[in-house]
Amino acid sequence: MTVRTDLHIHSCLSPCADEDMTPADLAGMSFINGQRLIALTDHNSARNCPAAAAAAAAYGLGFIPGMEVTTSEDIHAVCLFPDLCCALDFDGYIYRHIPDIPNRPEVFGNQVILDADGCVLGTEPRLLITGCDISILDLPGIVAGYGGVCYPAHIDREGNGLLGILGAWPPELDVRAAEVNLSFVKQQFSGGAGQNTGCGGAETGVGAGVGAEAGARAGVGAGTGAGAVAGTGAEAGVENNDRFGRFRGLIPEGARLIAASDAHRLSDLPPAGFPIELESADFSGLARWINSAR
Ligand SMILES: [Zn+2]
Ligand SMILES: [Zn+2]
Repeated sequence: MTVRTDLHIHSCLSPCADEDMTPADLAGMSFINGQRLIALTDHNSARNCPAAAAAAAAYGLGFIPGMEVTTSEDIHAVCLFPDLCCALDFDGYIYRHIPDIPNRPEVFGNQVILDADGCVLGTEPRLLITGCDISILDLPGIVAGYGGVCYPAHIDREGNGLLGILGAWPPELDVRAAEVNLSFVKQQFSGGAGQNTGCGGAETGVGAGVGAEAGARAGVGAGTGAGAVAGTGAEAGVENNDRFGRFRGLIPEGARLIAASDAHRLSDLPPAGFPIELESADFSGLARWINSAR
């Protein structure tokens, strides 16, 4: 079945996200927008996943607990887990691998932990957007040890994107998926305004001025090239592998390309998610889809 997804969303626990990105509101808005499977992926933390899971369940919305890890190379990677227990165990592991640098809310923003009713459980004192001491090459194996899957986030971006930082996909990186940003879908609905620049800030895309790769940047990064054709978000997603075909030469052959919003504010949540043909609208369905690319 075709499942509309958004597998990269930040809550108010991410310092760079709006404080009205409560777990309950992001789940409710995603449901209203037609998503059927979402993942919460705060920076280096999964501690708002229990509240988001409860909110999603109330809407009958599929939910995957996750995290966006910043690696030792400053590469962002989306990590997704089969259940809250695995995600929170991994959360504890990552917490031991990020530097003990205090957050400065007046500079970086608050890091708020909520329960399912929106009540504040606390704030995270340690800055969550710093890099951990784990390499992108080691991360997939560690995540697998917690039952999860991971893949590089927003590879279309220079900042914190694998291709922008390393220049190419390392042959020894054994993951079968990569993410590009869904913002161009939103642009189609909003008349072209307001690209979501996400946690990486305003950036140019990967491949700028690098010959053929510049097309990939224009298509997904800036939303003005061949990739950003007219049509609904659903169409853009269903044909994703063709639509994002320019990235195929930049990632392992056969690997899945996943588009997600990287939403940091409610208005970033897309009116149409990224459709994927899944056997079930849950982690196991997604994992099977990713692994079937092997
Ligand atoms: Zn990111
Ligand atoms: Zn993000």
